[in-house]
Amino acid sequence: YWMRFADLRMSDNRALSQASDRAKAIGVPLVALFVLSPQDYVAHDRSSRRIDFVLRNLASLQNSFHELNIPFYITTHSPRKTLPERVFELLKEYECNHLFANLEYEVDELRRDIRVWELGEKNEIQVNLFHNKNVIEPGVILTKQGRGYTVYSPYWRNWIATLNNNLEGYIEESPEPAPNAESIKQDKKLSSLFETTVPDYVEGFELHEKESARMEEYWPAGESAAKQILERFLKTRARSSQLGAVDPLAPGAQNGEKHSRIAKYKEARDQMDKDTTSRLSVYLSSGVLSIRECIRQTMALSGSKKVDANTSSGVGRWVQELAWRDFYTGILSHYPRVSMGRPYLEKYSEVVWEDHQAPQDSAIKREGRDDVDGEMFRRWKDGTTGVPIVDATMRSIREMGWVHNRARMIAAMYLTKDLMIDWRAGERYFMQNLIDGDLASNNGGWQWCASTGVDPCPYFRIFNPHTQSTKADPTGEFIRNWVPELRKVFGPDLHNPPPSVADKLGYPRTMIDHSAARDRALRRFKNPGTE
Ligand code: FAD
Repeated sequence: YWMRFADLRMSDNRALSQASDRAKAIGVPLVALFVLSPQDYVAHDRSSRRIDFVLRNLASLQNSFHELNIPFYITTHSPRKTLPERVFELLKEYECNHLFANLEYEVDELRRDIRVWELGEKNEIQVNLFHNKNVIEPGVILTKQGRGYTVYSPYWRNWIATLNNNLEGYIEESPEPAPNAESIKQDKKLSSLFETTVPDYVEGFELHEKESARMEEYWPAGESAAKQILERFLKTRARSSQLGAVDPLAPGAQNGEKHSRIAKYKEARDQMDKDTTSRLSVYLSSGVLSIRECIRQTMALSGSKKVDANTSSGVGRWVQELAWRDFYTGILSHYPRVSMGRPYLEKYSEVVWEDHQAPQDSAIKREGRDDVDGEMFRRWKDGTTGVPIVDATMRSIREMGWVHNRARMIAAMYLTKDLMIDWRAGERYFMQNLIDGDLASNNGGWQWCASTGVDPCPYFRIFNPHTQSTKADPTGEFIRNWVPELRKVFGPDLHNPPPSVADKLGYPRTMIDHSAARDRALRRFKNPGTE
């Protein structure tokens, strides 16, 4: 079994489960493999936090595998182009005749798997690839014309109906692997595989000790931590005091299901001044938690034999959010150009962005300007734009590697419409800093905010960041938590500090007038190509 980057669990893992079944059926031991591929991490703008999270999970997985006498061989390989060849060398060295893995839907990864398939044929090793990332895999939910949906509402209606029509098929839990016989430890060749260890870091992705400790506190590794965080979302109440670290076992948190985060999700999900959402993106994007487990748990919670399709209930609304993840994975596989720096709506490829471009000789690998480097972009990244809700968002990302969905939307809209900076620069910065960075969801989110994507926010619906701030952070707790300069400010000034207040508190003045910026964005989107 070849474990992939976003595959980090033992439970409900289709490829692993099937590999174990086959090994038992033909009476051979199961061996597990993970290949660290630093060149892929650079090419895909992986954040150091994400790589550190992967390593922490690998350490926990290695213990679980070893308890079952399954060797978990971890190795590092570059160049990435020859990774399939390296895997087949190992397969031959250890006399494996079957290979099991879960699919990844990014273009490079699909190309890699085509090569894996070819090598399997050439070497007479049976290759078995599985869909494991989604509730319903890409290619199933199609329009009447047989194409991928580009509008979410009809996609969702089709998705929930398809799911409820074949629940067993989509969400049945795959059993954990069975143990190998103890005797594997005496095997001359295989026993050495037990000796590999998880490296402390991947070169180029080191975290400072302090940051690494902070990440461990915010995002504990391992499947049981993920399940506790799910439980916390299903069973406990949202608090404003938990905007930072999560303590899923905090005493007294159990407050009854009526007021739980999921029960209140429909009304409270956009509220950033309390910890209202699940925070499971970190575990879902690395595959530490199965998305199907989330669906099964919602059914257990409502005691229903069907998945809740009623989006006016908290549970139904949450399920609908989970389906966005499938939707965007589908967009990436039906329209892979979106991952190559191209807008889904080609007409907006001519939109004029502010020119904060780095010198031409810097490596530009994709279309568009994702190597922006200028004062305004720097202040956006640093959280010193002078717009408190944007600054709180960007500081939360810097500190935790994560921020609430609405906050991401406000910051992305501000970058692309107020500062008129190319969405690809923001997309890249998020990937390089988020711990839950997922190409499909991140690209989907950015193209929605930039009005260039499938089913996007229309270009003329430009968020006013101050109004958004008042709605999403009514008590101001979110801003005060992340922007200490404003800790003593209450009322409207917190959302839009006048220059005198900003100056007094050592907080930056706003860089740009929202209504003038709005006019500029409307002009440029209305007539792409003109200033
Ligand atoms: P909850 O509200 O508890 O939702 C549960 C789960 O549903 C999430 O964990 C996630 O897996 C899925 N989900 C919810 N909303 C979305 C959505 N809009 N798109 C896709 N899946 C969704 N999500 C990522 O996982 N990785 C990213 O890199 C990422 N980048 C984003 C960039 C931008 C500009 C925007 C606007 C959104 C982005 N999202 C991304 C989607 C969303 O913001 C996060 O999934 C969400 O904030 C995670 O918090 P949560 O787990 O508490 O969510």
